Amino acid sequence: MKICLDAGHYSRYNQSPANKTYFESEAMWKLHLLQKKHLEAYGIEVILTRSNFETDREVFSRGAAAKGCDLFISSHSNATSTGINETIDYPVVYVALNGMGNAIGEKLAACVESIMGTKQKGRIATREGNKNSDYYGVIRGAVSVGVVPVLIEHSFHTQTAATNWLLNDANLDRLAKAEAETIANHYGIVLPDEYPDVSPWCKDAWQWAVKNGVCDGTRPKDPATREEVITMLFRLLG
Ligand SMILES: [Zn+2]
Repeated sequence: MKICLDAGHYSRYNQSPANKTYFESEAMWKLHLLQKKHLEAYGIEVILTRSNFETDREVFSRGAAAKGCDLFISSHSNATSTGINETIDYPVVYVALNGMGNAIGEKLAACVESIMGTKQKGRIATREGNKNSDYYGVIRGAVSVGVVPVLIEHSFHTQTAATNWLLNDANLDRLAKAEAETIANHYGIVLPDEYPDVSPWCKDAWQWAVKNGVCDGTRPKDPATREEVITMLFRLLG
């Protein structure tokens, strides 16, 4: 399992009108590093589209950087076009027009809604640009290399409560942890220390396989016996 994470913007970009200390770029840079930490705890390999907060990168190439990954995630906070709006408060996960991202997108939208406690329900959406193509360059880029794309808008930084929530580092950490858990559940991956097996030997063998990159963290179905784990390891080792 390999995931490419993208922080929506670089440097100090998209200042909130509701709280001037909030910049979308800063909060999403922090969030994507926390997503990395929590995804790696599951044994998932993570790459980032940019190594430096102050460096921009063209959107299509950021999506295409996900080549070889199973999932691409671009993190954002949304804005209404009319400035401060205390009513509009919901997460939306943009997916590809061709349906790639629908299933994981629905789950992530529900996850963000529940952790942030938004006023309106989370949802998925598509946005069309020119000639039936996806509007967002990062989504076009990921689709071009065959990778499932999601662009998560973590509610609106034009709403005071959501903005203040996103300014809290502990909240960002809880959010990233819940998103990692949602992704892991979707792909059938469990934390190495949550291996629910009767045999310590089976647990050790599986943890070894995850740590050494033999196994992507996907847990074999109820390997109740030592023989079944041995069979699984031989299969994974080819
Ligand atoms: Zn954005």
